[in-house]
Amino acid sequence: MKSVLIIGLGRFGTHLIHKFYDLGDEVMAVDINEAKVQEAMPFATSAKIGDCTKLDTLKTLGIKNFDLCFVCIGENFQSSLEITSLLHDMGAAKVISKANTEIHAKFLLKNGADEVTYPERDSALKLATRYSVDNIFDYIELTKDTAIYEIPILESWIGKSIIKIDARKKYHINILAIKNNNNIQALPGAEYIFRTDDHVIVLGHNADVEKLLKKMD
Ligand code: ATP
Repeated sequence: MKSVLIIGLGRFGTHLIHKFYDLGDEVMAVDINEAKVQEAMPFATSAKIGDCTKLDTLKTLGIKNFDLCFVCIGENFQSSLEITSLLHDMGAAKVISKANTEIHAKFLLKNGADEVTYPERDSALKLATRYSVDNIFDYIELTKDTAIYEIPILESWIGKSIIKIDARKKYHINILAIKNNNNIQALPGAEYIFRTDDHVIVLGHNADVEKLLKKMD
């Protein structure tokens, strides 16, 4: 169980709170706006109204006790930077700040953010990648040229085992899981025999996965 501080209860901060609540983590929610704090209360372990650009407000929160501190303020660039920097100076274990623009992200990283999340850009990249090619069902970017993909199998794989198709050598991909409808078999053994309608969840370089996808055209 993690102890999480979420500052800023806009749409993004609220999604975070709901997810951490579902995961059973301990969440403190803070916003300058009372109504936002009221809305978050049922999903938070504790909630506070306060202006987090003020050192006094942050001091009352016990910053060092949190495993993660999220700053979820996009519109007010100045406040987001100030809060990120204060959290860092106060010894927060990990500060993750939300950015609305590339410049915002750069400033946050230079001013104390350990990590920056840029949700609008990230989900746009993911959607564009997924829909620009017909056969990508899901996609998680790991580095600029490596990702985890959910893709269909080649027709020629049906009835053959993983070892027989020699995925690593022939296609330079690692098969992490097999998905059929909504059933997932993680880390399938080499003897697994592919079935009609199987999807594979693979880790690979983008160029290698693209080559494999071209064989499906
Ligand atoms: P969204 O996640 O909805 O896209 P956003 O990126 O547009 O949000 P804002 O609406 O600017 O971000 O701010 C998010 C929340 O942060 C708001 O609920 C706002 O009241 C709160 N907030 C803004 N400044 C402060 C502050 N100094 N201290 C605490 N909370 C603040």
